[in-house]
Amino acid sequence: MAWRVLARSLNGSASAKGVAEKVSPMVVDLSPPPLRAAAAAQEEGPRSWVFMGPPGVGKGTYATRVAEALGWAHISTGDILRTRAESGDPVGRELAGIQASGKLVPDEMVLELVDGKLRSLRSDAGYILDGFPRTEVQANGLMALSRPPEAVLVMRMQEDKLKEKLAGRRVCRQCHKSHNVADITMGEVHMPPMLPAKGTCCAQPGSLYTRRDDTPRCVEQRLQTYKDEEDALLRSNMMRMVRSYRFHVWGGVRECLPGLLHLCDPATGTMDADHAGIPGLSGGV
Ligand code: ADP
Repeated sequence: MAWRVLARSLNGSASAKGVAEKVSPMVVDLSPPPLRAAAAAQEEGPRSWVFMGPPGVGKGTYATRVAEALGWAHISTGDILRTRAESGDPVGRELAGIQASGKLVPDEMVLELVDGKLRSLRSDAGYILDGFPRTEVQANGLMALSRPPEAVLVMRMQEDKLKEKLAGRRVCRQCHKSHNVADITMGEVHMPPMLPAKGTCCAQPGSLYTRRDDTPRCVEQRLQTYKDEEDALLRSNMMRMVRSYRFHVWGGVRECLPGLLHLCDPATGTMDADHAGIPGLSGGV
């Protein structure tokens, strides 16, 4: 994946690079040195990733796009649990209640669900886990499953911007795609609304709705739940066993996606973060 060509085609200019340099570091390589050296020696980069980060940071937005571009599976535990909750049976009702409270679904249930998903993939299929693991128990459980991930992306964004983004999120009833009506400015960087394209199901009147857990009260609870678990997650065995990067979401999808695609593409993502040439990408913990 030629990052600069892709960036130019998405941005129409090299301006993203200039902005990113001011906001850098955008991506920080957190991997222990031996893992970085071993990965740099490999011909192909990781094909199995975890995208983690607080609610609203854009895990789903980026995971969907990167997985689609690379032909990988996108496994979102939040989406799977929401679909299950819609069934209305006793388990579904319990799940709906947990999700609406902003708390976490029990570890065993989510681990079983992810185990099933990973087993159903072809052995060489790439995947991105979006929103899983969220606890240390899940992280350790994941590393014992049939196809543990090879890399982790820890996404970050200013908390007030996370809240603005969650308040502006709208989901399509038909295809479940997320959009955003918020118009956010972060210093010199602008994150414009992400509105549905004309002619799609999402653009039909009445298609978009606000998730039940995107209310201000529930957003506070979800952010707190994430904060409560994040330290333990970052200290889990998973983080010692796989390559990990920190990514500061510094702009909109147009600006940030090319760098993430470059990082995740197995053909380009093995190089040491210091030399990858992506604006703001740097090595070292
Ligand atoms: P967000 O990351 O914005 O909170 P998700 O759609 O990923 O949104 O998750 C919504 C809800 O689904 C969570 O608040 C939680 O109740 C449940 N959930 C999703 N993933 C997990 C997980 N890995 N473990 C436990 N609960 C989860």
